Amino acid sequence: MSFSKAITGMDRSGSFRIYMGITTSAVQQAHMLHGTSPLATHLLGRALTGTGLFGLMLREPGFKVTLQFKGDGPAEQVLCTADSAGNVKGYVANPQADLPPKEDGSPDVGGALGTGILTCIRDTGTAEPYVGKVDLVSGEIAEDLTYYFLASEQQNTLVSLGVKLDENGGAAGAGGMIIQVLPDALDEAIDALEAWLPLIPSLSVLAAEMPSDATEDEIPEIMREFMRRAFSGMPEEYAVDPLDILPLDWNCDCSEERLEEVLISLGSKEISAIIEEDGEAEVTCQFCGKSYHFDKPHLEALRMKCITRKMN
Ligand SMILES: [Zn+2]
Repeated sequence: MSFSKAITGMDRSGSFRIYMGITTSAVQQAHMLHGTSPLATHLLGRALTGTGLFGLMLREPGFKVTLQFKGDGPAEQVLCTADSAGNVKGYVANPQADLPPKEDGSPDVGGALGTGILTCIRDTGTAEPYVGKVDLVSGEIAEDLTYYFLASEQQNTLVSLGVKLDENGGAAGAGGMIIQVLPDALDEAIDALEAWLPLIPSLSVLAAEMPSDATEDEIPEIMREFMRRAFSGMPEEYAVDPLDILPLDWNCDCSEERLEEVLISLGSKEISAIIEEDGEAEVTCQFCGKSYHFDKPHLEALRMKCITRKMN
């Protein structure tokens, strides 16, 4: 079985911090749940990995981030949610989206999304979540996220995300990283990083090369090795040292209570209409596909909840 895990690191001059992940099992899980086409596996896999790493960057318990990449291409949109504890989930509006590869043979992820907008919702425990919007730069996800950090959060980052497919259109390897340039970064350290980046091995290929039958005890050393190999070309004074091993994997936390809230948000009139027309409701979690059944007494209780909430 493949696994998913994250690791943080920092260069020896304290110029940049790295959040890196192997997300093979998370992307494979998404592929199985949503039946994604090869192109949609690339799209969803990149978005899941980027959102998962972004979630870890929030650090504080309970903090969450949702990224919605929405465009006029055949995939329509990809939406992912992650929290600071390393739980990530997501879906593609059209998981069957397919396009021929680009001229260089790479998957046309940008074409799948087309022209559109990246919306970021950060829930940091305050009453109002922070919402940022930027235009999609290329729809290739990593570039869009880099641009988002710069334009909306004034943060200098470098984002790299990738999926290597297996013969069934699932994930043989998936991985990514977000490098944060720190406020007092040395120019020499950033120059060294920029010189190495074009030569850095593909993270999805590197992820696929890691032993897939690893036990939980072996994973931390595999993650440190993953990071060392990715930054093996950095000069000694700016070498990257691995820091913390963090959880990062697919987890849908849907529940009957959450889907009750979805129904309540429709309003009492809409619930009355459902009761009259169907007498029951089947609500499916869009992230994991799990179905929840609501019978008539349950719907009537929710309608009452709607009405009492409005009065308060
Ligand atoms: Zn779910």
